[in-house]
Amino acid sequence: MQLTQKIRSQQEDIDNKTISDRERLKEHQEQREKIAQNLNPYLLNRFNEISQMSGGIAVVEVRDELCRGCFMNIPPQLYIEIRRCTLLIQCPHCNKILYHIESIS
Ligand SMILES: [Zn+2]
Repeated sequence: MQLTQKIRSQQEDIDNKTISDRERLKEHQEQREKIAQNLNPYLLNRFNEISQMSGGIAVVEVRDELCRGCFMNIPPQLYIEIRRCTLLIQCPHCNKILYHIESIS
């Protein structure tokens, strides 16, 4: 009897979490669509292509000259370019789009 109640209670928790997760997912999808409407179509296509090729992660941080997507070293000249934030730069190893947090904040 107690076990049945415990299982029922856990099932209710799971159901509630599923509902709230679906609501959050819907909110994020709506936000994504709004952002996509204002993006340059070329950039949006590149983002979508990279995301599909990389398991859903298209943009990663570079820190201490390391790509945080593949943990390979970024060549010094490319690292300088990333810090300038003037071009869309992809990791030469994993192809993800790179950013340097201190340079954009
Ligand atoms: Zn990489």
